[in-house]
Amino acid sequence: MALAVMVTASGSGRAGQMTAPRATGSAITLDVDAADAPLKILHATMSMPAKAGPMSLFYPKWIPGEHMASGPIANLTGLHIFADDRELEWRRDLIETNAFAFTVPVGAKTLTAKYDYVVPFSGGAFGTLPSTNAKIAVINWYTVGLYPTGESPASIAVTPTLRAPAGWKHGGSLDVASVDGDTIHYAPTSLEMLNDHPVLLGQHFRSITLWPASSPVGEHVIDAVADSEWALQFPPSRIEIYKRIVLEERAVFGNVGHYRKYHWLLTLSDNLGAFGVEHHECADDRVAENTFVDDDAAKRSSLLLPHEFFHSWNGKARRPAGLVTGGYEQPMKDDLLWVYEGLTNYYGELLAARAGLISPDEWLDEVAADAMSVSAPGRTWRPLQDTADSAPFLYTAGGGWIGWRRQTAGGLPSFYNEGTLIWLEADVTIRKLSNGGKTLDDFCTLFHGQHDNGTIWVKGYDADEVYRTLNQVAAFDWKGFFETRLRSKGARLPLGGVEAGGFRLVYSAQPNMFTDPWALDGSLNAYGSLGIHVMADGTVDDAWPGAPAYSAGISTGMKIVAVNGRKFSVDQLRRALAGSTDAKAPMEFIVDNAGYFKTVSVPYQGGLRYPHLERAAGATDLLTAIAAPRAR
Ligand SMILES: [Zn+2]
Repeated sequence: MALAVMVTASGSGRAGQMTAPRATGSAITLDVDAADAPLKILHATMSMPAKAGPMSLFYPKWIPGEHMASGPIANLTGLHIFADDRELEWRRDLIETNAFAFTVPVGAKTLTAKYDYVVPFSGGAFGTLPSTNAKIAVINWYTVGLYPTGESPASIAVTPTLRAPAGWKHGGSLDVASVDGDTIHYAPTSLEMLNDHPVLLGQHFRSITLWPASSPVGEHVIDAVADSEWALQFPPSRIEIYKRIVLEERAVFGNVGHYRKYHWLLTLSDNLGAFGVEHHECADDRVAENTFVDDDAAKRSSLLLPHEFFHSWNGKARRPAGLVTGGYEQPMKDDLLWVYEGLTNYYGELLAARAGLISPDEWLDEVAADAMSVSAPGRTWRPLQDTADSAPFLYTAGGGWIGWRRQTAGGLPSFYNEGTLIWLEADVTIRKLSNGGKTLDDFCTLFHGQHDNGTIWVKGYDADEVYRTLNQVAAFDWKGFFETRLRSKGARLPLGGVEAGGFRLVYSAQPNMFTDPWALDGSLNAYGSLGIHVMADGTVDDAWPGAPAYSAGISTGMKIVAVNGRKFSVDQLRRALAGSTDAKAPMEFIVDNAGYFKTVSVPYQGGLRYPHLERAAGATDLLTAIAAPRAR
């Protein structure tokens, strides 16, 4: 969903290796004390050789994988800077408020910064969400990572240690040098690589080796922490399916990976967020506590682990030029997120089907749910390209209006889900052009599956390289294909792939599990009927302009108190919707608009409506073949 150096800045640039620190910059030690993680505070000490004169320390701002300036500077607290034993006075820069300036006196040997990261208990996005609780700590090093301003993170050598709460276990793909009691000594690396390798601490911990280092595909591990031992008792069949995920995913890239080993950092908790952030050799994946023991929850969130794994190739190794910035101080340009996230969203959903996490029919339902979210009215003014360009603020835009803004949250009506539709169309187009001889997998093998030398690397690209490579797979006006779709606005959905693949989008009263969120919160997705999303307490957290509820006067932020004369509950609203087809009168709501009550009549008789894909008579079915397993 979420570095590095960012060695090259264009589609034709050279690739750079990033496994070992290139100690051309400062050498620092970073000691993080997470013993107080249950108290929601981390203590850090950064030390480096002192150099006399003015300098400043920087707190990471533009965070890879998060696509925005999300470095949680407000949570950096308790800062004291010392030259040897002498405390120095610091001043924050007035323009770049993530930088702290001070002067190092002549003769000082060691510069030390001591500070805390206070872990929020609510709010935030991605790594700045709550990340510790009584049983778990997810350590994202950038949250505790001051470094000399202006130096490339790739050139800074860092020797990290981490102290865990007593008796907790640890996981991750960061190389461990030694363990001394509760303190983990990690091998020296670059600051860039350290920030690319978050680690897990937890009382309830389980490490599941899907494939050992000695296997033909190399080391692939799920490191899981949970709020309980119960949540870690995955059925063996689910573990077998995740072994297949590895094989199916690597098959897309010609079995070439750009990691030495890969670990999913899986957090199973109801209070540490529901999201994923990608890295070269791992992903910070957070889901509800029951996700891996409950079949329904496992299916709803089935796209997550394949999605973040896919990013190791698409997003980390191959990265849009505007995201190859040279460090955390430089702004990111998100214009190519329709490749970075759009292609990944398509494959994350698809690979879950190819591996058997969901059935082919369930995959069709997931694509249908994507299409429903894309039908949000914001598409009448904001084209797909602008959803990507606006990512630096759209992820964190709050307060409702998700569908009108095409916010990058909730149902993801932006480059994620519209990306699925247009990359599906690209896949179908390649299959038709080549009479089934080529697929989008061939593009991925060519574009991402390069340099199989067991090292981590980054190579930037631009849109033209995407078009050129597609053209190598199947000659076509790919520039025209994508530019048309990137600029497209209006109510007409980009369903070319669905339709050319032999299906059509329909709505019925049959539920679609993918219209509900991963972490079931008791809300009701009524976008397909009334054009609203309703929380369990009746709060309308999104209303689509032009849809029946909004047109009648129910808007974002209002709270439904009663439906057809009865006290609101989600079940009551669902029953009223189901009964609307035979009703003689409009649906009647009492809504609370921040203390002012009103009655609203909604002339709606369409019943419950959920999206599905249905076979179109006479058209050849290409989608079943797309969802078929490939790996041996
Ligand atoms: Zn993603």
